[in-house]
Amino acid sequence: GALSGNGAIVDLNRANPQLPTDMLAFLAGGADTKALAEKAVASALPSAVVARSAVTLQAPLPRPGKILCIGLNYRDHAAESNQPIPDHPTVFAKYNNTVVGPGAAIVLPTVTEKVDYEAEFAFVIGRTARNVAAADALDYVAGYLPFNDVSARDYQMRTSQWTVGKTFDTFGPMGPALVTSDEIPNPHDLDISLTINGEVLQSSNTSNLIFSVNELIADLTSFMTLEPGDLISTGTPSGVGSARKPQRWLRAGDVVALTIEGLGTLENPVIAQGA
Ligand code: ZN
Repeated sequence: GALSGNGAIVDLNRANPQLPTDMLAFLAGGADTKALAEKAVASALPSAVVARSAVTLQAPLPRPGKILCIGLNYRDHAAESNQPIPDHPTVFAKYNNTVVGPGAAIVLPTVTEKVDYEAEFAFVIGRTARNVAAADALDYVAGYLPFNDVSARDYQMRTSQWTVGKTFDTFGPMGPALVTSDEIPNPHDLDISLTINGEVLQSSNTSNLIFSVNELIADLTSFMTLEPGDLISTGTPSGVGSARKPQRWLRAGDVVALTIEGLGTLENPVIAQGA
């Protein structure tokens, strides 16, 4: 595990061998473990500090407990998809075979030529949550990160359930880091954008979410327990490839960059399967 700042990264296990070695255990440790980590960072010896440029970042959460995604959660995206504003959040699942980190490739499967990008603002649960009131919901968030809900539209739409088109390997890039919630006092006013090869294709703000982070946690925990390490991706704004004229599918050689204010840029190259 590591915490970063000022271009340097502290190797938490070198700074304090008692700290957990993986993110799920770190999050399960709650406030006590976070306080221990902050102390370890503040007092880290030079031998525990490495340059950001000297490491390859992995996905912040390589094996999330759940990956829950929300569909049609921006007014602009519901409109471009010709869907009414929903009364309830549309919830679907991805699985942790999809997860890749910053810089890792999105692999285009040979069976589909309709692979799309979806820039999303995601949050990670930090405390066990059940029947949480919307007003209290942010207390249960460990942090936030960019998440690309990569989707094969032909597989997504060939049945009423979207799961298959959402769960190809590498269809869940996330990162570059999990930014702890104390650094993001208002999650509902963050610019979010996505470019391919430098061309801006999505540009919005989390103020355009139909269901807020608070409302999503209240809704989800009315029927299920959320646990530390569960990831919820809040949906994508307008500008996805399938809604463009002409449609814009991911191609081998593309570089997709997803930026959220305060959370950094998640960049992933696109390659063909077998390349
Ligand atoms: Zn999505």
